[in-house]
Amino acid sequence: MHKPAGKVYLIGAGPGDPELLTLKAARVLGECDVLLIDDLADTAVLRHARAGARIVRVGKRGGCRSTPQAFIERLMLRYARNGHVVGRVKGGDPFVFGRGGEEALTLSRAGVAFEVVSGLSAGIAVPASLGVPVTHRGMASGVTFVTGHARDDGHPGQEPDWRALAQTGTTLVIYMGMRRLAAITQALADGGLAPDTPACAIQNGTRDTQRSVLSRLADLARDAAQAQLGSPAIVVIGEVVSLAGIVALPVADARVA
Ligand code: SAH
Repeated sequence: MHKPAGKVYLIGAGPGDPELLTLKAARVLGECDVLLIDDLADTAVLRHARAGARIVRVGKRGGCRSTPQAFIERLMLRYARNGHVVGRVKGGDPFVFGRGGEEALTLSRAGVAFEVVSGLSAGIAVPASLGVPVTHRGMASGVTFVTGHARDDGHPGQEPDWRALAQTGTTLVIYMGMRRLAAITQALADGGLAPDTPACAIQNGTRDTQRSVLSRLADLARDAAQAQLGSPAIVVIGEVVSLAGIVALPVADARVA
């Protein structure tokens, strides 16, 4: 007998704070029979899962014990082909450094129906939690999201062109940049970015465990190491970092210019 077709939702769980989950993600989580959840996605989002849903943890964070991507994709396909509604739950947004694009291609090639449920990416929400807007009129006319982590799957790494990035005049938001922070900040300085450019690193943003270091380009790597800041962290470099703590004031405390 022909099995009913399954479906895969590629779901963004937001940066950590379970309230920063979209209404759509919450609804869809409740429709899934199987949830394949990354370790970056906060388990608190599982409160939206329906009773009896199968939860499979498939963490694969850089440097940690991990489930190979190919295995995750096979699992996803197998459940969907067996007629299940599968939720592939990722931190932040599935299409921002989340390999959601690769999974969407795999599903599409396999002829499995899927839908992307966007989430709030850490690169926007985590700086905002410190009061740092990634763009700001007169300060940053744009923002560049970039990875600090070269590919680790044996393929030639696509190292971002840090010298070129130093010249963009946009805020730089670096994902997965902690391990190579000293080299990255040095390359940006070599590319002409002023050493006193405000810079910060924020670990576990929007979670109860959030910690951050405010610094300057030249000192950020040292200061972050001193504070023992690790992953997952977002690094922000640009004038906008000088607004940390200013625009986040509660309304009652806001100074009138
Ligand atoms: N798809 C995710 C990014 C996955 S890549 C998104 O859109 O947010 C993993 C990287 O995201 C981490 O190494 C870190 O740089 C960043 N990240 C994700 N959640 C974070 C958080 N709560 N605080 C700080 N950085 C975070």
